[in-house]
Amino acid sequence: MTIDVAARSSVGARLADLEISRAWLVDPASGREGPGELVVEDGVLVAVTWLEGAEADGIDASGVVVAPGFIDLHAHLREPGNEDAETVATGLAAAAHGGFTTVCAMPNTTPALDEPSVLARVREAAAASGSPVKLLAYGAVSAGRAGEQLAALGELADAGVVGFSDDGAPVRSATLFRNALAYAGMLGLPIVDHPEDPTLTEGAEANDGLIATVLGLRGWPAAAETGSVARDLAILDDVLRDVPGARLHLTHLSTAASLDLVRGAKAAGLPVTCDVTPHHLALTEEWLAGARRWSWEALGDDGAARDPWRDGVIAAVPFDPAVRVNPPLRSAVDAGACLAALADGTADAIATDHAPHTEVDKAVEFGQAASGISGIETAIGVILAAVDASRLPLARAIEALTTGPARVLGERSPGGPQPRGLVEGQPADLVVFDRSAMWRVTAGALASKGKNSPLLGRDLAARVLLTVAGGRIAYEAPDA
Ligand SMILES: [Zn+2]
Repeated sequence: MTIDVAARSSVGARLADLEISRAWLVDPASGREGPGELVVEDGVLVAVTWLEGAEADGIDASGVVVAPGFIDLHAHLREPGNEDAETVATGLAAAAHGGFTTVCAMPNTTPALDEPSVLARVREAAAASGSPVKLLAYGAVSAGRAGEQLAALGELADAGVVGFSDDGAPVRSATLFRNALAYAGMLGLPIVDHPEDPTLTEGAEANDGLIATVLGLRGWPAAAETGSVARDLAILDDVLRDVPGARLHLTHLSTAASLDLVRGAKAAGLPVTCDVTPHHLALTEEWLAGARRWSWEALGDDGAARDPWRDGVIAAVPFDPAVRVNPPLRSAVDAGACLAALADGTADAIATDHAPHTEVDKAVEFGQAASGISGIETAIGVILAAVDASRLPLARAIEALTTGPARVLGERSPGGPQPRGLVEGQPADLVVFDRSAMWRVTAGALASKGKNSPLLGRDLAARVLLTVAGGRIAYEAPDA
């Protein structure tokens, strides 16, 4: 494989000239993957050649892979209000380093993105950053995310938000949720809910189960997610009678039971979509005890989670605040259910829930630490660990990062609900990564201000070499 960039140029510059030969192309839009070559001139993908026969000899999916740029449905960029944790500029740089060319920012900023002027500020920050990564944003469901009155959904829709969410928290009031689903449905936009019944999770620190019991942490029961998902689905079913355009997207589902509910709802024809995160599919609750193996390594042949103490796999100190996340890391069985849901299409997308935090907010007692993982840069490496372990086909993983989220976004996805993928004549929007190249996750290697990753010190495969967004350079590895 060779990559030939004519002249090294800076982030934001139009990609003048690029030739990639003898790589593995994955194009979910056409459903095709295989050996190929491509040429970019003046930002435009001018040639895509699929190789066959002798020309394809020696090229397989274990080396350099080229795919359409990833779309993240769920990221926290913290600006305005918490620029010590992340800014739009550092968030977009982190996204590009992770292979993402489109990022949907959550509105739980300070102030919340509950009216168009806040969206304008975020867009100004994106423009000022010089990054070509496309920034999309959700508006808040409720004014100030207070859960009391609807935000200005119509004005926000006119201003260009891609949906509505009170993420960080669920929409606690069923009545408010119902009204939001109906109103957003009339506007043609989805409600993105963070499913959690807060009456069951007050003070919760860890997944309710053996690990939490042994560690003495207060449990976050799976029922809090299942119950919330069941409520949302019941209300969706109800609202659809009046508003056929109502759409629900459930984000960061983490339990086998809630995914089963979505599976059933989809089979019944409800317009519901959902995503799972890299950490919920690959990490488990035993990381709180100090284990550091992948979820599939923690699953016994009997289908139950293995015991990390009996297995002697405690490799780090317990109570690492970096593994505190909401919803919490679950059991190996739940992580396996996230993978199964991706494989069978129940989960439409992989979303990172990138949640950068300052050192101050994380370096405290486990139960006091802010929830979240800075994960947009490690997502592809974590997902490909699952692919390497034969837990997920490569093509399906890429689909869940590209066409899957595009369909969730619908008409407001940059390329529309059916993106064209790796086709000639379009502005290049792609990521090039090397599955055979390891990189070490360190604070210095992360472009995000958030260094709160439980993967610090770990080597991940799938080093991103180049990210091109809208024909412009978003990220280029220093020695690519
Ligand atoms: Zn959330």
